[in-house]
Amino acid sequence: MSTTLDLLPTPLDYAALPKADLVERIRRRKEERNAVILGHNYQRVEIQEVSDYLGDSLGLSQEAAATDADVIVFCGVHFMAETAKVLSPTKTVLMPDLRAGCPMADFVTGDALRRLKDQHPGAAVVAYVNSTAEVKALSDICCTSSNAVRVVESIPRDQTILFVPDRNLGAYVAEKTGRDNIISWDGYCYVHDDLILDELADVRARHPDAPFVVHPEARPELLEAADFVTSTAGMVDLAAEHDALIIGTERGLVDRLTRKYPEKKLLPLSGAAVCGNMKMNSLAKLAWCLDHGEYEVRLDEEVRAGAERALRRMLDLSGGWSAPTSEEAALEEAGVRPRGCGCS
Ligand code: SF4
Repeated sequence: MSTTLDLLPTPLDYAALPKADLVERIRRRKEERNAVILGHNYQRVEIQEVSDYLGDSLGLSQEAAATDADVIVFCGVHFMAETAKVLSPTKTVLMPDLRAGCPMADFVTGDALRRLKDQHPGAAVVAYVNSTAEVKALSDICCTSSNAVRVVESIPRDQTILFVPDRNLGAYVAEKTGRDNIISWDGYCYVHDDLILDELADVRARHPDAPFVVHPEARPELLEAADFVTSTAGMVDLAAEHDALIIGTERGLVDRLTRKYPEKKLLPLSGAAVCGNMKMNSLAKLAWCLDHGEYEVRLDEEVRAGAERALRRMLDLSGGWSAPTSEEAALEEAGVRPRGCGCS
């Protein structure tokens, strides 16, 4: 290394260091702190390369809860690091950049949800895991994009459901379950909601043999046009099975699958499907974070316990932590572990 392990004041100072120095610094600090680095599927490649686990938020949080690390560095967005803290209350959870939030999660606040609950006494609240810990704590049960249908089906058919915060996933679940008593919050993921049919027509014209898979956070008209609707974990499985695939989700996953299967035709539905919030984390910020032990995610215990209750109810319903698929198992053997259920 060209530098010692002396602390530098700001992430900008770290950005001036060569990549190899940053990687070595991260490795050494990780060892000193007994830390584990969790990288979401949508992170920059440089973050994915130094992550101990790759996956989506819930899968990563569950991996974190199972490790004996003292420190969890979550490279994703804020609600994901919160979920790690909810499930691992005695561990220190760090984020490289506190401003990396999820606009979809921020659509609904605790106060706004309390007002909606007051308007619908007796309704059950289902919170997509892409929500804040405060919103989870006010909910009856959480869901992921993989198990949302099963979660909703577990609620009596005559009970009104308040589904927060994703209107597209809410509409998908209403359609799949045939329920007309689901009130969806008007939130959305800008990355998936911005995917449009015109882009699909364009890619399909150039690759008519490639099936199209899309994430349920996309708009209903795209879901109708899709050959498969599934979470990012489902997309990982589909990529293993198909030689060609048009993939409607964030670019980070497509890039990762392309690196894994360079011989396959794995096509992003849109080159513009990039989550800028996920990309706020960088190698320099990660090195700064490990050096300084910042930024720590803290939760009020009442909120944490409430969020854990809603998450545990979902996990109990789903049979707990699922066994890895064959594709996941193969990647685990290769030392890269994709687990979980979607952006969520
Ligand atoms: S991809 Fe969408 S849901 Fe995921 S963090 Fe970005 S804005 Fe939020």
